[in-house]
Amino acid sequence: MFYIFKKSSPLQEYLDTLQNSGQSIGFVPTMGALHEGHLKLIDASLAQNDHTVCSIFVNPTQFNDPKDLKKYPRTPVKDTEKLINAGCDILFLPDTAEVYPPNLKVNLNIDFNSLDQILEGKFRPGHFAGVASVVHRLLQIVQPNQLFLGQKDYQQVQIIKKMIEQTGIKVKLSMQPIVRNTEGLALSSRNTRLSSRGKSLASQIYKSLQSVKNMIHTYSPREIEDKAIKMLPSPYFKVEYFKIVDPVNMHPINRIEPYNRVVVCTAVWVEQVRLIDNLIINT
Ligand code: AMP
Repeated sequence: MFYIFKKSSPLQEYLDTLQNSGQSIGFVPTMGALHEGHLKLIDASLAQNDHTVCSIFVNPTQFNDPKDLKKYPRTPVKDTEKLINAGCDILFLPDTAEVYPPNLKVNLNIDFNSLDQILEGKFRPGHFAGVASVVHRLLQIVQPNQLFLGQKDYQQVQIIKKMIEQTGIKVKLSMQPIVRNTEGLALSSRNTRLSSRGKSLASQIYKSLQSVKNMIHTYSPREIEDKAIKMLPSPYFKVEYFKIVDPVNMHPINRIEPYNRVVVCTAVWVEQVRLIDNLIINT
């Protein structure tokens, strides 16, 4: 059976009966326009839980650019079909008033230790406060056993990890690998706004990330970043950042240590579409 809930109370009642009978709930929060990347999260949740809730909510508070919010693709009918075919059994499709009722009082007061100010946080002011508050609210409603997030938004995973630790919410977080198309472009709902030439150009982003692997023991982090950025020339690309960072605090690293782990993170504009990608490298 496939159930769609637009309101939180009946969803909570239904989930309570499942959990009271000892069944586990996996949760996959999304903003819709579902693609294979989202569906892999659903697969992972289905494999590890008795039931899987997918939420689709385009959260206005995490968009720092109103034009981006307006242009964000919305495909609820197709999304529903995809979820049914994937075997997901519960879709939560709330409206803004359901997620943010007027009487809701939240003051999360999370100490992100500057994680919300760097990389994505620097270029999208307020974005992570919006992400943390919506995921907190959704976790309060769904109260899942497990939360599934994609490595595609690596910094978001670190932000949500901090939010979970500091609010004491009991949930196990699982990060799933990035799903890419055959040319290496990380799947994203925003890719639908690229022309086919743009998509093909954008696959160069993954190549630039991979080039770091080959240079990692030869050059300094800053030299590597400069060389990789040269693989993304203007006017085709506008690089906002390209940084080799510590996997936990996400601050740029100054020296590559052997037997360590680094993450290469980038945000690049192609055809007026902002794309993000990253690669975890074991040094
Ligand atoms: P979004 O709908 O973009 O908010 O994404 C919802 C979830 O899907 C987030 O946890 C994303 O990190 C994850 N996700 C998006 N794209 C991908 C991808 N290409 N591979 C893996 N996970 C993804």
